[in-house]
Amino acid sequence: MKTIGLLGGMSWESTAEYYRIANETVRERLGGFHSARLIVDSVDFADIEELQRAGRWDDAGMLLASRAAALEAAGAEVILLCTNTMHLVAADIEAAVTVPLLHIADATAAAVARAGVTTVALLGTAFTMRRPFLRERLSSHGLTVLVPDERDIDAVHGVIYAELVHGVVTDESRALFRGVIDRLVARGAEGIILGCTEIELLVGAGDSPVPVFPTTRIHIVAAVDAALDAI
Ligand code: GLU
Repeated sequence: MKTIGLLGGMSWESTAEYYRIANETVRERLGGFHSARLIVDSVDFADIEELQRAGRWDDAGMLLASRAAALEAAGAEVILLCTNTMHLVAADIEAAVTVPLLHIADATAAAVARAGVTTVALLGTAFTMRRPFLRERLSSHGLTVLVPDERDIDAVHGVIYAELVHGVVTDESRALFRGVIDRLVARGAEGIILGCTEIELLVGAGDSPVPVFPTTRIHIVAAVDAALDAI
């Protein structure tokens, strides 16, 4: 089994899910006493959030590149960046390591394709929904990607930063997300990508009339499959 490096803390609420799902998946696949070989490097999210707000993406890229290099030096054989948003600086990270960075959009696009869905909606932070980096990576796999209207983008972003990254989950925000999802389905979405690693803490399959694609689960399960293929 290969050793997976988790570059996390963005936020730790979802990194904890990566850790839990990795171990559960290895137990399902191998049984017995088996668990995942993992190294976690968890940043202080306050540093990242400040750089995001200031638009200092180069600095954020340098910070995460140095943490990824530390994971490789510690023995990680594949690296996961445990956030959709910070894939904006994926190229900086890839340039700093020799081991593969398993891109969250590639794993997600593969899961969407397996479900036979071609038109998806992307929910995430405003950075993820407004900027092209994730949409274009998904589109490069042949998907048509919709995003919410401006008002819904602001509302979804607000819930992520005011509640989900702090571990706050409310029925009111779940209802808000259900409304956003319904409007996207009315516009033709055949599937909903939960493209922020905390969203699956709030909504799941029962909150959507079309299939949902939870990026935390999809990302870590793909990594475990890759790690176990190496046995
Ligand atoms: N975890 C979130 C994501 O997947 C948002 C927090 C962050 O900005 O990294 O995009």
